[in-house]
Amino acid sequence: MSERVVHILPEQVASQIAAGEVVERPASAVKEMVENSLDAGAHAIQVEIERGGGALIAVADDGAGMGREDAVLSLRRHATSKIRDAADLWAVRTFGFRGEALASIASVSRLKLQSRRAADAHGVELSAEAGELIETRACAMAPGTRIEVCDLFFNTPARLKFMKSVATEQGTAAEAVQRLALANPAVAFRLIADGRTIFDLPRAASALERIRQTHGARIAGAMLPFEFGGAGMRAWGLCLQSQESFPTARLTLTFVNRRVIRDRVLMRAIAQAYQTLIPRGRYPAVVLFVELRPEEVDVNVHPMKTEVRFRRAGAVFDLVYHALRTRLKDQAAPSAADAGEAESASIANAAGSIASASAAASMVEELAPPRREIASPMRPLRLVADAGLSATATQRPLGLGFRIGGGAAAETNAGTGVPAYSRLKILGQIFAGFVALEGEDGLLLIDQHAAHERVTFEKLRAELRAGGVRVQPLLTPAVIELNPARAAQVIAAIPEIGALGFEVESFGPSALLLKGAPAVFGPEAGRSLLEEMIDSVGENGFRTRSESAFEDLLKTLACHGSVRAGRTLEVREIAELLVELDRTEFKTNCPHGRPVHIEFRRGQIERMFRR
Ligand code: ADP
Ligand code: MG
Repeated sequence: MSERVVHILPEQVASQIAAGEVVERPASAVKEMVENSLDAGAHAIQVEIERGGGALIAVADDGAGMGREDAVLSLRRHATSKIRDAADLWAVRTFGFRGEALASIASVSRLKLQSRRAADAHGVELSAEAGELIETRACAMAPGTRIEVCDLFFNTPARLKFMKSVATEQGTAAEAVQRLALANPAVAFRLIADGRTIFDLPRAASALERIRQTHGARIAGAMLPFEFGGAGMRAWGLCLQSQESFPTARLTLTFVNRRVIRDRVLMRAIAQAYQTLIPRGRYPAVVLFVELRPEEVDVNVHPMKTEVRFRRAGAVFDLVYHALRTRLKDQAAPSAADAGEAESASIANAAGSIASASAAASMVEELAPPRREIASPMRPLRLVADAGLSATATQRPLGLGFRIGGGAAAETNAGTGVPAYSRLKILGQIFAGFVALEGEDGLLLIDQHAAHERVTFEKLRAELRAGGVRVQPLLTPAVIELNPARAAQVIAAIPEIGALGFEVESFGPSALLLKGAPAVFGPEAGRSLLEEMIDSVGENGFRTRSESAFEDLLKTLACHGSVRAGRTLEVREIAELLVELDRTEFKTNCPHGRPVHIEFRRGQIERMFRR
């Protein structure tokens, strides 16, 4: 069988392709390989990684496969079946088009490629090392392609050095697969890391169903579908009700023509649509798909194809903004058109739908080792109900080799100009976010969140100086389900999490058992506080090599644990807050540096009234 489809691009086409490194870490290789499987029309894709992808990345699909000649060509630079000439660059409908990925991956690994087209009697198997073809032979296999990449970067020590921890690389790779899975709900995805199934997603009928599989029923159930079209473009997707928001943009997922894209125009449009609906500095959960004609968007601007340039950026901004804004105006219930989705949304819980993954396309079953235990859903699922907390608090040593903060004396803000808040007359609360006080010579507004944040932050610092954050044991320990993609990273950070006052143990491969929480925040807050902390820490996790890094974590903790804007406070609560605030050092600003109060002087007010 011949009928070759892969060809080497002519030099002048190749030179127009945005040059750059395609594989900078295992996750980028995973992404390229999965995109190839999608381009090949796969219905089921299995990704297996070992040691974060550094030891092994194997991607198997049931797609079109390649013949022998194509397979050999596919490893060469600028070998592609997807475009022919420069004009095609403006009409790309596939994920790939550069013919670079496989060549780049092969050049920095030991690679085995097996592929078979359905019409061929048997498959072809190639092995290559550092890009050199070593062996080609026939092999028996089901139609499709399986590519194994071993010892990534074995011949490029410089890049090997830049690899992060296994847990981090695994998490990043898992997130990459998860995003591609969201954009391609009709394809079954399975991810296995070091022999353990991280997720196993059967083919889904809709984006919402896929979100339920990946992010759990709680988030999926609160998602509102939206859609808006115009001028040959369409923006659609799902957005979370604005009562919920998150400390990072991790749940803001944007796709352009099904490509995973990070784009400033899209992010700004989303942020503006949510403006005033969620607190500043917080992020919504949005899964946004923008569809436009290929010639409206240049995908050839970034080596990893994660950025694009829109021909009409303003029109794209308006489209996305209006799509979301219109939906968010009235968040009462999903529209009738989506009743079908809404109905299935209410069915069962995420655990159930993940477990039903056994229905995963049969081809994966063929390619894969027998199914193991199915991992739990991606997002925290409340398995054990309400944790009670006892009243006793125990002292807990910090356990890290440094102490926080300077001596108290140096920090004292013996106030000239800073009033004793608790002696001022409380006028009341305004906008559910500020406390109005009448001072001797002016009107004071206090930002309740900033104030409380400073109070709790200073309490935590004082406890640390005294030996460690005070822990309050929970009467009933609570199970906290972790996003399997990040579970290893979080579990590795248990000592650091402990230093913040959370007494936790690992509880299976992707859950934590919470047995005690920081006493400062009172009995009920522990679990959601820890969940927020886990959500909000970045790629470096809870690592706290320096004092300032640990202090940043404490700030985050104080922030999440403090009264938010939007909470109505009773006069008694206001009075207590003011007394506490007066006892607190640095009370004029919150730990992030924002002012705790602003003052309108009497003279100023009188002048405004021209008195
Ligand atoms: P590109 O995707 O930009 O064309 P790649 O280097 O990623 O370049 O792949 C080169 C070619 O190899 C592709 O154009 C495709 O024809 C073929 N190929 C790669 N992976 C697969 C796969 N999983 N199934 C079928 N063909 C594949
Ligand atoms: Mg490709």
